[in-house]
This record gives sequence, structure tokens and C-alpha cells, in this order.
Amino acid sequence: MTDLPARRLLLVHAHPDDESINNGATMARYAAEGALVTLVTCTLGEEGEVIPPGLAHLAPDREDRLGDHRVGELAAAMKELGVTDHRFLGGPGRFRDSGMMGAEQNGREGAFWNTDVDTAAPYLVEVIRETRPQVLITYDPDGGYGHPDHIQAHRVAARAAELAADAAYRSDLGPAHTIGKIYWNRIPRPVAEAAFARLRAEGTRFPGVAETGDLPGVVDESLITTEIDGGTVWAARKTAAMRAHATQIAVDGPFFALSNDLGQPIFTTEYYQLVRGAPGAPAGARENDLFAGVTA
Ligand SMILES: [Zn+2]
Repeated sequence: MTDLPARRLLLVHAHPDDESINNGATMARYAAEGALVTLVTCTLGEEGEVIPPGLAHLAPDREDRLGDHRVGELAAAMKELGVTDHRFLGGPGRFRDSGMMGAEQNGREGAFWNTDVDTAAPYLVEVIRETRPQVLITYDPDGGYGHPDHIQAHRVAARAAELAADAAYRSDLGPAHTIGKIYWNRIPRPVAEAAFARLRAEGTRFPGVAETGDLPGVVDESLITTEIDGGTVWAARKTAAMRAHATQIAVDGPFFALSNDLGQPIFTTEYYQLVRGAPGAPAGARENDLFAGVTA
């Protein structure tokens, strides 16, 4: 363990693209600062809708090759962010993308949503005990917006954090490790509203506009404990990483759209709610470093 970098950050996400949309600036910053940034993606996003018409043949109802393609998109995005440690939970294709709530695919054998939390969690316990992160970033219990894979990613991350710290659990997966700080992805409501106002004023090439209610993790400002300002450098890396997910994301300047073609803002400052561990900022102030207060 002695050859690990001093600062270690773990992110757990449901699909390729979630990491760049939510945390691209944060990942780019910490990778550049020499921290170990480990991304664990739980599915290949096989059920995603494909934006470019030329790649429509990859879709699950046609050739069903979207998962493999998205492995390549994720690798390209990680290159933009300078992140070298990215893995799929249990290896690529172990758990399949589940589709939206109520979708018939969710009941399939091997679907992430249809997998027992305690079946999936040991794969993450092994990563936690190997990389020994001081900081974990994932979604809130609702997955930010109710997508089954995002809810399941939250559950697996929470369960794995608990099991990894338990010395009596599976010593074959490595020595116990307790993650000091756990964060949920957030967007402060006033920030979201101001960004949509700007989008409406400036206009985009997308035929429609999303709403604050469509965004994941939007909460009252008082819940935000931490903000990471992407400035120009990390913000540019984030946008480049989002562009790398070309089957899923179309970028237009400071805005983007998913396959629903509804414009939404790219948040170049990223926000978090600390839910475990002591805040590294005085009461009433926000942290601007996820590792604030962390002792090596
Ligand atoms: Zn997702």
C-alpha cells in the first residue's frame, strides 16, 4: 500500500457519461494534482439511446453493440480528464444497464437493478481495499433523479463502504479500510435556475429546453457543503470529456443535450453534500477541497 499517492478519490457511477457530466472538473483537477482518481462504472450503459444517426445501428433493439462502443467513449473521456484508473464493477459487462423505472429490461437476468446489493457490493469492496480512498463520491439514495441504475449505484456504494471497513468481512478481499468522507452529487437550486435563465436568454441549437426538475440532485442551497470551481482549465477538460461520450451527449457551447434533445447547462463548478466525515471548513463556509481536513 505504500506506493499509493497520498490523496485518493473514488467515484461510483451507473453509466459511462455520468462521471463527466457530474464530476468532470473535479476529476480533472485531482488527477492533475497527483491524487489517485479511481472511477468505478457499474454498467456499460447498453440501454442508452443513440444520438448520432450514423451510430443508430449499435442500439439495443438492433445490433446491441452499444456497450462495447461506450467502453471506448469512456476511455476517451478519461484521457481528456487525465484519469488512468477506471474500471467496471465486476469487469466490463458483469452488470447490464437496466433502463428507466418500470422498463421491461429491469427484470432481466444480470440487470444491475435486478442484482442483489450484496452480490454486487463485494466487487467494490475489493476496489476500496486496494485503492484505500479517503473520499467517495456517489449519488443520493434516490440516485439523484430516480433512475434504477443510479439508485442501485448509491446502494452498492453505501453497502461496500460499510463492508470494506468491517475487518470481519471477507479478508480475502484485502485489509479493512474506512472511507473518511462520503459526498453526494448536488446542484444548488438557485444555481440551476440561474443557469437555465442564461440558457433561455442565449438560446441553443437544441429544439427544446430542459427544466430544473429534470436535473439530478437539485437541492436547497443550505445542503451544499462543498464546491469545486472548474475555472477555465478543468471546465474545458470537462466539456471535452462530455464530447467524448458522443452517442449520449451533444454539446453546444456551454450547454448540452442528452438524447431527448432538451438543452441544459454544463455546470463548470461542481457541488457536493458531505454526508459522512467532518467538514474541513469553518461552520457556515463551504469547502473548496474534497480532502480538506483529511489526514494522511
Ligand atoms: Zn446514468
